[in-house]
Amino acid sequence: MIPSVLPTYNRAPLEFVKGEGSWLFEADGRRFLDLGSGIAVNALGHANPKLVEVLSAQAQNLWHVSNLYKIPQQEKLADLLVEHSFADTVFFTNSGTEACELAVKMARKYFYDKGQPERVEIITFDGSFHGRSSAGIAAAGTEKMVKGFGPLLPGFVHLTFGDMDGLTSAISDQTAAVLIEPIQGEGGIRPLPDAELKALRQICDAAGILLILDEVQCGVGRTGKFFAHEWAGVTPDIMMVAKGIGGGFPLGAVLATEEAASGMTAGTHGSTYGGNPLGCAVGCAVVEEVMAPGFLAEVNRRAGLFQQKLEGLVAAHPDVFEELRGTGLMLGLKCKALNMDVVQAGYDNEVITVPAADNVIRLLPPLTVSDDEICEAIARLDKAATQVASA
Ligand SMILES: *Cc1c(COP(=O)(O)O)cnc(C)c1O
Repeated sequence: MIPSVLPTYNRAPLEFVKGEGSWLFEADGRRFLDLGSGIAVNALGHANPKLVEVLSAQAQNLWHVSNLYKIPQQEKLADLLVEHSFADTVFFTNSGTEACELAVKMARKYFYDKGQPERVEIITFDGSFHGRSSAGIAAAGTEKMVKGFGPLLPGFVHLTFGDMDGLTSAISDQTAAVLIEPIQGEGGIRPLPDAELKALRQICDAAGILLILDEVQCGVGRTGKFFAHEWAGVTPDIMMVAKGIGGGFPLGAVLATEEAASGMTAGTHGSTYGGNPLGCAVGCAVVEEVMAPGFLAEVNRRAGLFQQKLEGLVAAHPDVFEELRGTGLMLGLKCKALNMDVVQAGYDNEVITVPAADNVIRLLPPLTVSDDEICEAIARLDKAATQVASA
């Protein structure tokens, strides 16, 4: 008999009842060190006191009014994002995949309004992940995601990740944009080298097309910059954000330049829940915390410590691990053993990691993880690796 919850997930037999900082608790008191953060979502840890306070205060006052009216929390969050990024304007969504929908629509509308309605194609890359909506699965094109779901949203061209030569020849007079993750998350923590992101920007400029970055997983301080593309010193025209920005509250956004957003006039897009007072109040608190003086410097310092210790872990378990990948606290261990066996051994040793493609386990701790917790993480991962090696 089908379970009451549609069985689209293979769930681990873990059931958490409480979270605090970098820790998750089961009802029997078992305490897990969380290196997954609900897939890079709980950027400020579980039950962060500041976020609890802001959410509770907003919940006492006003939850939802719809976008028929002005929402001051939304304006404040948009102002903050504009202040701290390349963007001139922001649209709020409830998830990453909704941000993908708008990013694609925005790019196409831009060229439509410019008198180039034939420019509808979006170039994307293998191993990418842009969510599970129709645009998201068509963009990624992965067989596992698209097979059986009928005709896909047309207009996506798929290239090998980082294939710059292929890119130049794939661009035609039907191309609207290139869509890429600066660091692939689901694809196995595969970073696009800074030089390639720079080259990508130049190629887009030369061809007169838009650059869309998907920073749903790598954004909001995860790599040690507010947004990952800042490391390369280039900016996109349109950017998708979600996951970390809500700190656990469902919140996403599309950030854009005034030029790229110029087609999105009144009535061209909308969302009932998008940008609601609850989500935006929390989003403001997250952005204020991440952009507070010293916060990102501290993320980078901790990331340096974690990376150094993880290199030691890889060296100590050459049969289990192949290499460490990633930037800041967006890290992956490419495994020689089966990644799911390592994740399972982590559960046995009360440390949470997240599997990804390419036989990788992801390490995405809260950005607030402490030095002691990093040492504890290494100790538990070491036990897990020893268990895998001796199995
Ligand atoms: C998670 C993710 C998405 C989809 O976000 P949802 O909130 O699950 O819709 C899109 N792009 C990237 C890079 C992601 O990691």
